Amino acid sequence: DSAESAPAIVVGSGYGGAVAALRLGQAGIRTLVLEMGRLWNTSGPDGKVFCSTSAPDQRAMWFRTRTEAPLATFLWLDVVNRDIGRYPGVLDRVHFDHMSVYVGRGVGGGSLVNGGMAPTPLPSYFSEQFPTVDAGEMYATYFPRARSMLGVNTVDPAWFESTEWYRFARTSRKAAANAGLKTAFVPNVYDFDYMRREAAGTATRSALAGEVIYGNNHGKRSLDKTYLAAALGTGNVTINTLEKVREIRRAADGTYLLTADRIDVSGTVVETKQYGCTYLFLGAGSLGTTELLLRARETGALPALDASVGTGWGTNGNVMLGRANHLWDTVGANESTIPVMGIDDWANTDNPVFAEIAPLPMGLEHWVSLYLAITKNPERASFSYDAAADSAKLGWTAAQSAVSVSMAKKLFDRINAANATIYRYDLFGTTAKAFADDFTYHPLGGCVLGRATDDYGRVKGYSKLYVTDGSLVPGSLGVNPFLTITALAERTMTRVLAEDTAS
Ligand code: FAD
Repeated sequence: DSAESAPAIVVGSGYGGAVAALRLGQAGIRTLVLEMGRLWNTSGPDGKVFCSTSAPDQRAMWFRTRTEAPLATFLWLDVVNRDIGRYPGVLDRVHFDHMSVYVGRGVGGGSLVNGGMAPTPLPSYFSEQFPTVDAGEMYATYFPRARSMLGVNTVDPAWFESTEWYRFARTSRKAAANAGLKTAFVPNVYDFDYMRREAAGTATRSALAGEVIYGNNHGKRSLDKTYLAAALGTGNVTINTLEKVREIRRAADGTYLLTADRIDVSGTVVETKQYGCTYLFLGAGSLGTTELLLRARETGALPALDASVGTGWGTNGNVMLGRANHLWDTVGANESTIPVMGIDDWANTDNPVFAEIAPLPMGLEHWVSLYLAITKNPERASFSYDAAADSAKLGWTAAQSAVSVSMAKKLFDRINAANATIYRYDLFGTTAKAFADDFTYHPLGGCVLGRATDDYGRVKGYSKLYVTDGSLVPGSLGVNPFLTITALAERTMTRVLAEDTAS
C-alpha cells in the first residue's frame, strides 16, 4: 500500500518531540508528529478533561482495569487504587522484571502527568555526565531558552511561608534543618499566580484539588500549551494521535519508512499505516526510542546502529519513602500537589542525594512526610530485544535498586535520628516496606549522547536520523530531568537545522 510522506517525521510528543516539532515547523519544514496517546482537550461526562487522583476513572491509566498508583496503600490498606475501564488513559506504568517505569501517554507526553519541577542541574555534575557538551553554551543559551519556552516560574517565598497548602513542605524543611541539611526552592512550570487564585477561591482548583499524576485540568503549562501549541501555530506541523510506531527502516534512496498501528479507544488496531520521510526524529522517550532502535538493529532493519544502543540506562537513582512526623509536627489537611522544595545534599561526596519534598494530598491530616529521593546511583542496565515478544526487555536487577535505597537510607536515617522519628512502612504495598525501590519517574538513557549518537543526537550509522529525548541522558542527572531534556533538544535542533537541512 502507498505510504503517506512528509519531509520530517517526529515520533512522540513529549519534551524531545515537541522541541523538534516546533523548530522544524519554524524552519518551514513540513512535519508530521506520530503520538500513540490521545489528545487531551475534550471534557468527559463530568465536564473535566482529566480525572482526579482521589476518584480515578478510565482516563487515569493506559489500558488498565485497575489503577496502579505509586503509593499503593495507607495503613497497609488497599484504599488508593480503583477499578477502571480499559482506555488510552494518560498515565502508563511499564513493567519490567525488577523495575517499573511511569510515563505519560498523550499529546505532551510526560508533561501531562508530571510534577512540573524544573531544576537546572549542577554544572559540575552536568559536565561529568556530558563531558563532550559545551556547558558554557548550555548554561548561557539552551537552559535559559528551555526555561523561558516552558514557562518556568518560582513560588513566591512569602506566600510559601504563610499558606496552609505548603505546610507539608515547611514541616519537612524543619526536619531536614534539624539534621543540618540544606533545602532549596525548586522552580516549576505550574503557574503560581494561578495557584494563589485557587487558594483565594477565585479560580477553579487543580493543584489544590489533588490533580497531578492523572493530569491537571488547570494551571499546569504542559507541552500542549507551550511548545506544541507554538508548533501547530507555524502551520507546518500536524499531530496524528493514537498511532504507535512499530517499525522503522530505510528505503534504497536513504529515506526512512515507518510502520504505525492506529488504535481506537478500546485498543484495537484499526489500521496499519505506512509513512515515509527524509528526516526522522525520535522523541518517544527513553523506553520508546530505545525499543524502536533496538528492534531496528536486532531485526536487521537498521543493522549499522551502534552496539551501545540499548545500554547506559538508569533510574536517576529514584527511591520514594515516607517518614512519620510527631503529632505536633502537622503537615496539614490541605496539600498542593505541586512540589516546590528539595533537600539538597548533592555536594556530600560520601553520599550525594537530592530529595524532592513530595506532596501526599489526602484531604486529612496524616503526619506523613513523603519524599522522592534522587540518589547518585552509578548502576546502569541494558535492554535486550525479545524476538518472541517483539519488545525490549530491561536487565535492571533488585540489587541495583538496593544501591539507591542504601543511599536514600543514609540521608533519611540522619533526618530520623535528628528528629527522633521513624519511617512509614505502610505506604508501598500490603507488606511492611519503607522504600519504594521498584519504580522510577525518571527513565534515562538507552541511546546515550556521544555513544549511540554523535555529540548532537545524530544516530551513529545513519544520516538524517536523530534522537532528541531522555534516552540521550546517561542514566543519572542528579535532578528532575525534563528541563535538561528540553535544553539538549534545543541544542540538537539548532545544530541540525544549521548543518543538516540546508540544501
Ligand atoms: P516523554 O515525555 O515520555 O514523551 C514520549 C512520548 O512518546 C509519549 O507521549 C509517548 O506516548 C510517545 N511514544 C512512545 N513510544 C511511541 C511510539 N512507538 N509511537 C508513538 N508514540 C510513542 N520530570 C521533571 O523534570 N520534573 C518533575 O516534576 C517530574 N515529575 C514526574 C512525575 C511523574 C508521575 C512522571 C511519570 C514523570 C515525572 N518526570 C518529571 C519525568 C518527566 O516527565 C520525563 O523525564 C519526561 O517526560 C521525558 O521526556 P521525553 O521527551 O524523553 O519523553
